[in-house]
Amino acid sequence: MNKLKDKVAIVTGASKGIGAGIARRLAAEGAKVVVNYASSKSGADKVVADIEAAGGSAVAVGADVTRKEEVESLVKVAIDHFGHLDIVVNNSGIYQFARIEETTEALYRKQFDINVLGPLLVAGAAAPHLGKGASIINISSNVTRIHPAESAIYTGTKGAIDAITVVLSRELGPRGIRVNAVNPGLIETEGTHAAGVMGSEFQTWNEGQTPLGRIGQVRDIAPIVSYLASDDAGWVTGEIILGSGGMR
Ligand code: NAP
Repeated sequence: MNKLKDKVAIVTGASKGIGAGIARRLAAEGAKVVVNYASSKSGADKVVADIEAAGGSAVAVGADVTRKEEVESLVKVAIDHFGHLDIVVNNSGIYQFARIEETTEALYRKQFDINVLGPLLVAGAAAPHLGKGASIINISSNVTRIHPAESAIYTGTKGAIDAITVVLSRELGPRGIRVNAVNPGLIETEGTHAAGVMGSEFQTWNEGQTPLGRIGQVRDIAPIVSYLASDDAGWVTGEIILGSGGMR
């Protein structure tokens, strides 16, 4: 369990949900981890405490991924604290389904700002510090394969992320930097509980459509990310990898 030894990672939106699980898993594999949060400092502190209790190294850093100065200072803390940067996981994201008639500028801007502008700013700030063997992993979604009704804005953000992943794999590949996306199906998280998805008809529908017969848990996604971050995936770039129990 030390295939990420000597690597330094930033995981955005790691105070809870999928990001917290990814931060814990990367640390368990030996990486030093910058645990980013926007509003939940206590959540991020708990993730750091758990990592340290297990013998790992981590630091919690607040930064809103939609703000360039905050993103630049997030990257600077990683370099100042741990000396270099090898893994960037763009996980921060929000989802708000709505009928097309309910589209507002605010609904559009909030989701596109956090889900698309955020990963672009983070990748842009990190890129000058990344070298051969480094890896960027974008957390997209299997909505870009199943296209649920009433998700035009959210699915639009993740479609952009799939495209951006491939673009950046071409742009950064010549420098030895790999860029991939992991596209989860429905995962039980604080976010999906807060959105009322857990226990809803959408959950039941997902279970029925998923070959493996259940929705996902954070532990189903984190190992895919740690594989992509590792040198085992050294010949894998520009891939959009579904982590959805076969639902497509
Ligand atoms: P979650 O439980 O709601 O957690 C979201 C995380 O994003 C939190 O740590 C939150 O930080 C952070 N965040 C929100 N706005 C931010 C900002 N402006 N700057 C920095 N961080 C910000 O969400 P989740 O369910 O784990 O989802 C995580 C990612 O997986 C998202 O990109 C989502 O689209 C994707 N995904 C989720 C599912 C699913 O079913 N859960 C399926 C497919 C894809 P604070 O709490 O500190 O504010």
